[in-house]
Amino acid sequence: MSEKTACPRCAHPAISQLFTSPVPGAWDVLQCEQCLYCWRTSEPARRTTRTAYPDSFKLTADDIRSAPEVPAVPPLRRGREDR
Ligand SMILES: [Zn+2]
Repeated sequence: MSEKTACPRCAHPAISQLFTSPVPGAWDVLQCEQCLYCWRTSEPARRTTRTAYPDSFKLTADDIRSAPEVPAVPPLRRGREDR
C-alpha cells in the first residue's frame, strides 16, 4: 500500500483525492500535489505505482525545477480560403 501513497511519476508523498467512484470503493482519482499527475486507482500498475511506472517518464524534483518553459503555441496557419 505504501507504493500508492507516493506519486508514480515524481515520488512526491503529497497526494490528494480528486474524485471517488459512485460505487463506493471501486476507484478513486488521485493527483500529485507537486507535478499534478493524475491517475485512477483502478489503472494498471505501470500508471499507478512508482516502481512499475516507465523510467523514461519518471521525474525528480530537480527535473521539475529545471524544466524548460513550455513552448509557446505557434501562430495559426492561414485558412484554406486564402489559397
Ligand atoms: Zn508527482
